[in-house]
Amino acid sequence: MPRVGFIGLGRMGHGMAGRYLDAGFAVALWNRSRAKADDLIARGAHWATSPAAAAAEADAVVTMLADDEASRAVWLGKELGKELGKDGAAATMKSGTLAIECSTVSHQHALDMARELRGRGLIYIDCPVTGLPDAAAAGKLTLLVGADAADLDKARPFLNPLSTTIRHFGDVGSGTVYKLINNLMGAIQIAGIAEGLAIAEQAGLDMKLVLEAVETGVAASPQVIRHSKRMAARNFEGATFTAALRHKDAAYAVALAESLLRDAPVMGRAAVAAYDRAKSVAPDDDEGRMVELVSRPK
Ligand code: NAP
Repeated sequence: MPRVGFIGLGRMGHGMAGRYLDAGFAVALWNRSRAKADDLIARGAHWATSPAAAAAEADAVVTMLADDEASRAVWLGKELGKELGKDGAAATMKSGTLAIECSTVSHQHALDMARELRGRGLIYIDCPVTGLPDAAAAGKLTLLVGADAADLDKARPFLNPLSTTIRHFGDVGSGTVYKLINNLMGAIQIAGIAEGLAIAEQAGLDMKLVLEAVETGVAASPQVIRHSKRMAARNFEGATFTAALRHKDAAYAVALAESLLRDAPVMGRAAVAAYDRAKSVAPDDDEGRMVELVSRPK
Protein backbone atom coordinates (compact mmCIF):
# COMPACT_ATOMS: atom_id res chain seq x y z
CA MET A 1 0.00 0.00 0.00
CA PRO A 2 1.59 3.35 -1.00
CA ARG A 3 2.10 5.73 1.93
CA VAL A 4 1.51 9.44 1.58
CA GLY A 5 2.08 12.25 4.06
CA PHE A 6 -0.44 14.99 3.27
CA ILE A 7 -0.06 18.47 4.71
CA GLY A 8 -2.52 21.36 4.36
CA LEU A 9 -6.24 20.67 4.71
CA GLY A 10 -7.76 23.90 3.46
CA ARG A 11 -10.47 24.18 0.81
CA MET A 12 -8.30 22.37 -1.73
CA GLY A 13 -6.17 20.10 0.41
CA HIS A 14 -9.04 18.52 2.32
CA GLY A 15 -10.56 17.10 -0.86
CA MET A 16 -7.16 16.05 -2.21
CA ALA A 17 -6.34 14.13 0.96
CA GLY A 18 -9.70 12.38 0.64
CA ARG A 19 -8.75 11.22 -2.84
CA TYR A 20 -5.79 9.29 -1.43
CA LEU A 21 -8.11 7.57 1.04
CA ASP A 22 -10.50 6.71 -1.81
CA ALA A 23 -7.57 5.24 -3.74
CA GLY A 24 -6.53 3.00 -0.83
CA PHE A 25 -3.33 4.81 0.18
CA ALA A 26 -2.10 4.86 3.77
CA VAL A 27 -2.46 8.57 4.63
CA ALA A 28 -0.75 10.47 7.46
CA LEU A 29 -2.13 13.99 7.88
CA TRP A 30 -0.99 17.23 9.40
CA ASN A 31 -2.71 20.60 9.35
CA ARG A 32 -2.11 23.71 11.44
CA SER A 33 -5.74 23.51 12.61
CA ARG A 34 -6.46 19.95 13.62
CA ALA A 35 -10.27 20.13 13.44
CA LYS A 36 -10.18 20.10 9.63
CA ALA A 37 -8.79 16.54 9.78
CA ASP A 38 -11.57 15.03 11.91
CA ASP A 39 -13.69 13.51 9.13
CA LEU A 40 -10.61 12.26 7.28
CA ILE A 41 -9.41 10.54 10.44
CA ALA A 42 -12.84 8.95 10.75
CA ARG A 43 -12.33 7.63 7.20
CA GLY A 44 -9.03 5.98 8.14
CA ALA A 45 -6.33 8.64 7.92
CA HIS A 46 -3.71 8.80 10.65
CA TRP A 47 -3.25 12.13 12.50
CA ALA A 48 0.39 13.17 12.82
CA THR A 49 1.45 15.64 15.48
CA SER A 50 3.84 17.58 13.23
CA PRO A 51 4.87 17.80 9.57
CA ALA A 52 7.91 15.70 10.53
CA ALA A 53 5.66 12.98 11.95
CA ALA A 54 3.45 13.02 8.85
CA ALA A 55 6.51 12.58 6.65
CA ALA A 56 8.41 9.94 8.62
CA GLU A 57 6.98 6.81 6.98
CA ALA A 58 5.91 8.36 3.68
CA ASP A 59 6.92 7.36 0.16
CA ALA A 60 5.80 10.83 -0.91
CA VAL A 61 4.87 13.99 0.98
CA VAL A 62 2.30 16.26 -0.66
CA THR A 63 1.68 19.85 0.48
CA MET A 64 -1.27 22.12 -0.30
CA LEU A 65 -0.54 25.32 1.61
CA ALA A 66 -1.36 28.99 1.35
CA ASP A 67 1.95 30.55 0.36
CA ASP A 68 5.77 30.63 0.57
CA GLU A 69 5.79 31.25 4.28
CA ALA A 70 3.55 28.27 5.06
CA SER A 71 5.49 26.05 2.67
CA ARG A 72 8.86 26.95 4.19
CA ALA A 73 7.54 26.40 7.70
CA VAL A 74 6.16 22.97 6.80
CA TRP A 75 9.14 21.65 4.82
CA LEU A 76 11.91 23.12 6.92
CA GLY A 77 10.39 23.55 10.36
CA LYS A 78 9.31 26.40 12.52
CA GLU A 79 12.61 28.19 12.80
CA LEU A 80 12.37 30.17 9.62
CA GLY A 81 15.67 31.11 8.08
CA LYS A 82 17.64 29.01 10.55
CA GLU A 83 18.82 25.43 10.61
CA LEU A 84 16.39 22.70 9.65
CA GLY A 85 13.72 22.68 12.34
CA LYS A 86 12.97 19.35 13.94
CA ASP A 87 9.26 19.71 13.18
CA GLY A 88 9.74 20.22 9.45
CA ALA A 89 8.78 17.42 7.06
CA ALA A 90 12.28 17.33 5.54
CA ALA A 91 13.77 16.40 8.91
CA THR A 92 12.36 12.87 8.80
CA MET A 93 11.95 12.08 5.10
CA LYS A 94 14.04 9.16 3.91
CA SER A 95 16.58 9.80 1.17
CA GLY A 96 14.96 9.64 -2.28
CA THR A 97 11.48 10.45 -0.98
CA LEU A 98 9.30 12.68 -3.16
CA ALA A 99 8.37 16.16 -1.94
CA ILE A 100 5.41 17.24 -4.08
CA GLU A 101 4.52 20.92 -3.72
CA CYS A 102 0.95 21.47 -4.91
CA SER A 103 0.71 24.89 -3.20
CA THR A 104 0.98 27.95 -5.41
CA VAL A 105 4.30 29.44 -4.34
CA SER A 106 6.61 32.02 -5.87
CA HIS A 107 9.03 30.92 -8.56
CA GLN A 108 12.02 31.82 -6.41
CA HIS A 109 10.60 29.82 -3.52
CA ALA A 110 10.15 26.73 -5.71
CA LEU A 111 13.79 27.00 -6.82
CA ASP A 112 14.97 27.55 -3.23
CA MET A 113 13.02 24.56 -1.89
CA ALA A 114 14.26 22.34 -4.73
CA ARG A 115 17.85 23.27 -3.88
CA GLU A 116 17.44 22.89 -0.12
CA LEU A 117 15.61 19.57 -0.29
CA ARG A 118 17.89 18.17 -2.98
CA GLY A 119 20.79 18.97 -0.64
CA ARG A 120 19.12 16.62 1.84
CA GLY A 121 18.75 13.81 -0.72
CA LEU A 122 15.05 14.47 -1.40
CA ILE A 123 13.23 14.99 -4.70
CA TYR A 124 11.23 18.24 -4.81
CA ILE A 125 8.84 18.80 -7.67
CA ASP A 126 6.57 21.80 -8.14
CA CYS A 127 3.06 20.73 -8.98
CA PRO A 128 0.61 23.62 -8.61
CA VAL A 129 -2.91 22.94 -9.78
CA THR A 130 -5.84 24.46 -11.61
CA GLY A 131 -9.40 23.55 -10.69
CA LEU A 132 -11.73 24.60 -7.89
CA PRO A 133 -12.27 22.76 -4.57
CA ASP A 134 -15.00 20.57 -6.08
CA ALA A 135 -12.52 19.38 -8.73
CA ALA A 136 -9.97 18.72 -5.97
CA ALA A 137 -12.42 16.51 -4.10
CA ALA A 138 -13.36 14.66 -7.30
CA GLY A 139 -9.77 14.00 -8.46
CA LYS A 140 -10.29 16.21 -11.51
CA LEU A 141 -7.51 18.76 -11.10
CA THR A 142 -5.07 19.74 -13.82
CA LEU A 143 -1.51 19.49 -12.51
CA LEU A 144 1.17 21.89 -13.77
CA VAL A 145 4.44 20.12 -13.19
CA GLY A 146 8.05 21.25 -13.07
CA ALA A 147 10.33 18.23 -12.67
CA ASP A 148 13.01 16.10 -14.19
CA ALA A 149 11.19 13.55 -16.42
CA ALA A 150 12.40 10.58 -14.35
CA ASP A 151 11.25 12.27 -11.14
CA LEU A 152 7.85 12.91 -12.68
CA ASP A 153 7.54 9.23 -13.60
CA LYS A 154 8.33 8.31 -10.02
CA ALA A 155 5.69 10.78 -8.83
CA ARG A 156 2.90 9.69 -11.20
CA PRO A 157 1.33 7.11 -8.85
CA PHE A 158 0.90 9.96 -6.33
CA LEU A 159 -0.42 12.41 -8.91
CA ASN A 160 -2.94 10.17 -10.63
CA PRO A 161 -5.48 10.08 -7.75
CA LEU A 162 -5.64 13.90 -7.86
CA SER A 163 -5.92 14.62 -11.52
CA THR A 164 -7.34 14.09 -14.96
CA THR A 165 -4.55 16.03 -16.71
CA ILE A 166 -0.84 16.36 -16.02
CA ARG A 167 1.01 19.07 -17.93
CA HIS A 168 4.79 18.77 -17.71
CA PHE A 169 6.34 22.17 -18.49
CA GLY A 170 10.01 21.26 -17.92
CA ASP A 171 12.46 21.39 -15.04
CA VAL A 172 11.66 22.28 -11.44
CA GLY A 173 10.08 25.73 -11.25
CA SER A 174 8.48 25.60 -14.69
CA GLY A 175 5.08 24.38 -13.45
CA THR A 176 5.04 27.36 -11.13
CA VAL A 177 5.92 29.75 -13.96
CA TYR A 178 2.84 28.59 -15.85
CA LYS A 179 0.60 28.63 -12.76
CA LEU A 180 1.62 32.21 -11.98
CA ILE A 181 0.98 33.51 -15.49
CA ASN A 182 -2.35 31.65 -15.53
CA ASN A 183 -3.43 33.31 -12.30
CA LEU A 184 -2.08 36.72 -13.28
CA MET A 185 -4.12 36.61 -16.48
CA GLY A 186 -7.09 35.52 -14.37
CA ALA A 187 -6.55 38.38 -11.92
CA ILE A 188 -6.51 40.89 -14.75
CA GLN A 189 -9.67 39.41 -16.26
CA ILE A 190 -11.58 39.36 -12.97
CA ALA A 191 -10.57 42.90 -12.02
CA GLY A 192 -11.62 43.90 -15.53
CA ILE A 193 -15.05 42.25 -15.30
CA ALA A 194 -15.70 43.98 -11.98
CA GLU A 195 -15.07 47.37 -13.57
CA GLY A 196 -17.00 46.54 -16.74
CA LEU A 197 -20.08 45.38 -14.86
CA ALA A 198 -19.93 48.35 -12.50
CA ILE A 199 -19.94 50.73 -15.46
CA ALA A 200 -22.86 48.87 -17.08
CA GLU A 201 -24.87 49.00 -13.83
CA GLN A 202 -24.31 52.70 -13.26
CA ALA A 203 -25.15 53.46 -16.89
CA GLY A 204 -28.51 51.75 -16.33
CA LEU A 205 -28.10 48.87 -18.77
CA ASP A 206 -30.32 45.81 -18.56
CA MET A 207 -27.95 43.50 -16.68
CA LYS A 208 -29.68 40.35 -17.89
CA LEU A 209 -28.90 41.43 -21.43
CA VAL A 210 -25.36 42.43 -20.45
CA LEU A 211 -24.69 38.97 -19.00
CA GLU A 212 -26.11 37.29 -22.08
CA ALA A 213 -23.87 39.44 -24.28
CA VAL A 214 -20.80 38.78 -22.10
CA GLU A 215 -21.37 35.04 -22.15
CA THR A 216 -21.63 34.84 -25.90
CA GLY A 217 -19.20 37.62 -26.81
CA VAL A 218 -15.52 37.61 -27.68
CA ALA A 219 -14.41 38.59 -24.17
CA ALA A 220 -15.93 35.43 -22.67
CA SER A 221 -13.81 32.81 -20.97
CA PRO A 222 -14.98 30.18 -18.48
CA GLN A 223 -13.68 32.44 -15.75
CA VAL A 224 -15.34 35.58 -17.11
CA ILE A 225 -18.65 33.76 -17.47
CA ARG A 226 -18.54 32.30 -13.96
CA HIS A 227 -17.53 35.55 -12.23
CA SER A 228 -19.78 37.88 -14.20
CA LYS A 229 -22.87 35.90 -13.14
CA ARG A 230 -21.83 35.88 -9.49
CA MET A 231 -20.84 39.53 -9.51
CA ALA A 232 -24.02 40.75 -11.19
CA ALA A 233 -26.13 38.77 -8.70
CA ARG A 234 -23.84 39.81 -5.79
CA ASN A 235 -23.87 36.12 -4.94
CA PHE A 236 -20.60 35.15 -3.31
CA GLU A 237 -21.82 32.03 -1.57
CA GLY A 238 -19.29 29.27 -1.18
CA ALA A 239 -16.05 31.25 -1.54
CA THR A 240 -13.75 29.07 -3.60
CA PHE A 241 -10.79 31.37 -4.15
CA THR A 242 -10.17 34.29 -1.84
CA ALA A 243 -8.98 37.83 -2.45
CA ALA A 244 -5.91 37.14 -0.29
CA LEU A 245 -4.85 34.11 -2.34
CA ARG A 246 -5.40 35.85 -5.68
CA HIS A 247 -3.44 38.87 -4.45
CA LYS A 248 -0.59 36.57 -3.44
CA ASP A 249 -0.53 34.87 -6.85
CA ALA A 250 -0.63 38.15 -8.76
CA ALA A 251 2.17 39.58 -6.61
CA TYR A 252 4.33 36.46 -7.15
CA ALA A 253 3.66 36.70 -10.89
CA VAL A 254 4.65 40.37 -10.99
CA ALA A 255 7.89 39.59 -9.13
CA LEU A 256 8.63 36.92 -11.74
CA ALA A 257 7.80 39.32 -14.57
CA GLU A 258 10.13 41.93 -13.09
CA SER A 259 12.94 39.37 -13.06
CA LEU A 260 12.42 38.51 -16.75
CA LEU A 261 11.11 41.55 -18.60
CA ARG A 262 12.74 44.89 -19.31
CA ASP A 263 9.47 46.83 -18.93
CA ALA A 264 7.38 46.78 -15.77
CA PRO A 265 4.20 44.68 -16.12
CA VAL A 266 1.64 47.50 -16.17
CA MET A 267 -1.47 45.30 -16.20
CA GLY A 268 -0.03 42.95 -13.60
CA ARG A 269 0.73 45.79 -11.22
CA ALA A 270 -2.77 47.20 -11.71
CA ALA A 271 -4.24 43.79 -10.84
CA VAL A 272 -2.09 43.59 -7.71
CA ALA A 273 -3.35 47.04 -6.69
CA ALA A 274 -6.99 46.01 -7.30
CA TYR A 275 -6.56 42.86 -5.23
CA ASP A 276 -4.66 44.73 -2.54
CA ARG A 277 -7.80 46.80 -2.06
CA ALA A 278 -10.09 43.75 -2.10
CA LYS A 279 -7.83 41.92 0.34
CA SER A 280 -7.73 44.85 2.75
CA VAL A 281 -11.56 44.79 2.98
CA ALA A 282 -12.37 41.06 2.94
CA PRO A 283 -9.25 38.88 2.62
CA ASP A 284 -11.05 35.57 3.16
CA ASP A 285 -14.12 36.29 1.06
CA ASP A 286 -14.59 35.28 -2.55
CA GLU A 287 -12.39 37.31 -4.85
CA GLY A 288 -15.43 38.39 -6.89
CA ARG A 289 -16.55 40.69 -4.11
CA MET A 290 -14.20 43.26 -5.53
CA VAL A 291 -17.14 44.35 -7.69
CA GLU A 292 -18.64 45.90 -4.54
CA LEU A 293 -15.61 48.15 -4.22
CA VAL A 294 -15.70 49.50 -7.73
CA SER A 295 -19.47 49.82 -8.17
CA ARG A 296 -20.19 52.79 -5.90
CA PRO A 297 -21.95 55.56 -7.86
CA LYS A 298 -20.31 58.95 -8.23
P1 NAP B 1 -6.99 27.71 2.27
O1 NAP B 1 -8.34 27.09 2.32
O2 NAP B 1 -6.81 29.09 2.77
O3 NAP B 1 -5.96 26.72 3.00
C1 NAP B 1 -4.63 27.12 3.24
C2 NAP B 1 -3.89 26.02 3.96
O4 NAP B 1 -2.57 26.51 4.34
C3 NAP B 1 -4.56 25.57 5.26
O5 NAP B 1 -4.29 24.20 5.46
C4 NAP B 1 -3.83 26.42 6.30
O6 NAP B 1 -3.88 25.89 7.60
C5 NAP B 1 -2.42 26.35 5.75
N1 NAP B 1 -1.56 27.43 6.26
C6 NAP B 1 -1.67 28.75 6.04
N2 NAP B 1 -0.66 29.41 6.65
C7 NAP B 1 0.09 28.47 7.28
C8 NAP B 1 1.28 28.51 8.06
N3 NAP B 1 1.91 29.69 8.33
N4 NAP B 1 1.79 27.36 8.53
C9 NAP B 1 1.17 26.17 8.26
N5 NAP B 1 0.05 26.06 7.52
C10 NAP B 1 -0.48 27.20 7.04
O7 NAP B 1 -6.46 27.74 0.75
P2 NAP B 1 -6.86 26.82 -0.49
O8 NAP B 1 -7.94 27.51 -1.25
O9 NAP B 1 -7.03 25.43 -0.04
O10 NAP B 1 -5.54 26.97 -1.37
C11 NAP B 1 -4.37 26.23 -1.05
C12 NAP B 1 -3.33 26.50 -2.15
O11 NAP B 1 -3.87 26.09 -3.40
C13 NAP B 1 -2.95 27.97 -2.29
O12 NAP B 1 -1.58 28.06 -2.62
C14 NAP B 1 -3.83 28.43 -3.45
O13 NAP B 1 -3.27 29.55 -4.10
C15 NAP B 1 -3.87 27.19 -4.31
N6 NAP B 1 -5.07 27.01 -5.17
C16 NAP B 1 -6.32 27.27 -4.68
C17 NAP B 1 -7.42 27.07 -5.52
C18 NAP B 1 -8.84 27.36 -5.05
O14 NAP B 1 -9.76 27.39 -5.88
N7 NAP B 1 -9.09 27.56 -3.76
C19 NAP B 1 -7.25 26.59 -6.82
C20 NAP B 1 -5.97 26.30 -7.26
C21 NAP B 1 -4.87 26.51 -6.43
P3 NAP B 1 -5.19 26.18 8.52
O15 NAP B 1 -6.24 25.20 8.07
O16 NAP B 1 -4.72 25.94 9.90
O17 NAP B 1 -5.59 27.62 8.28
